[in-house]
Amino acid sequence: MTGTVRELLDQGLPTWSFEFFPPKSSAGEAQLWTALRELERLAPSFVSVTYGAGGSTREGTLAVTERIATDTTMLPLAHLTAVDHSVAELRNVVARLAAAGVTNIMALRGDPPGADPQADWTAHPDGLSYAAELVELVRGMGEFCVGVAAFPETHPRSPDPETDADMFVAKCRAGADFAITQMFFRVEDYLRLRDRVAARGCDVPLLAGVMPVTSPKQIARIVSLSGQAFPAELAERFEAAADAPAEEQRALGVDVATRMCEQLLAEGVPGIHFITMNRSTATREVYERLAPVSTASAS
Ligand code: FAD
Repeated sequence: MTGTVRELLDQGLPTWSFEFFPPKSSAGEAQLWTALRELERLAPSFVSVTYGAGGSTREGTLAVTERIATDTTMLPLAHLTAVDHSVAELRNVVARLAAAGVTNIMALRGDPPGADPQADWTAHPDGLSYAAELVELVRGMGEFCVGVAAFPETHPRSPDPETDADMFVAKCRAGADFAITQMFFRVEDYLRLRDRVAARGCDVPLLAGVMPVTSPKQIARIVSLSGQAFPAELAERFEAAADAPAEEQRALGVDVATRMCEQLLAEGVPGIHFITMNRSTATREVYERLAPVSTASAS
């Protein structure tokens, strides 16, 4: 099996990956593993597991990632954030991942703990302030393949797109192998980010974060969690279908996401990263429509 996301990207075919979060209950755990097992049959390039604010899901993230590494044929990518962690704690988590054979790590600063992701960020007194420092820390601990976050609409805390791109490129130069973008809904936003990054002489592959919207109720939550805008014309299409049966709303979301992925593939995107919300049905449908011909595969 191919051991790193970087090696998969070097195959020159698009990667197809799926993001999950650690479950909070036994019912959630059952749902997660059903989704993972359904996905496993389709041989995705890799699967990632997010890390909760303040390390609140640390054990869950580690347990799920370790189990993917040992009990499935899929390649895991563990997210890790600097929130509320000292450097010693971060080293400890990285060492534990390495011991389980997890060599792909997404190095993130993380959002402030609490309900408001836009609240003030405060570093741990013995911790790190920016993701670039975490990239360096992970890199310094061994042969890891390191991913970082990118923001097609710029990070909500960045003063402008150019400064945001400068900071992003600095983070890549600290040792990132690849980046995954925040979910976005306009292909142009991704392309403009790619142009800004390329203009700075940086060729780190930018995997596109895609989340199919399967009901109009999701839209407000997406906006508040990601800080990203949702295109008005798309919101209107989902609103117009608000009284339709759930199946029809979901089909609309799958169609919209499929169309966006087609455009991204035509633009030469190196990979599509699906945010699944732990139910892989809609994302699997998009994947099954588009991926069969060309997938960078770990097996
Ligand atoms: P950074 O790269 O540190 O950037 C944060 C801000 O600081 C930006 O505005 C940047 O421009 C600025 N900046 C960076 N360096 C400097 C500097 N030297 N001087 C001044 N300003 C600087 N959150 C979680 O809690 N858990 C997860 O699992 C998780 N997974 C994610 C996966 C993806 C693909 C993405 C896109 C986001 C994810 N997030 C996750 C959210 C992420 O943690 C937040 O968006 C966070 O606010 C920014 O993290 P970062 O790693 O981009 O931070």
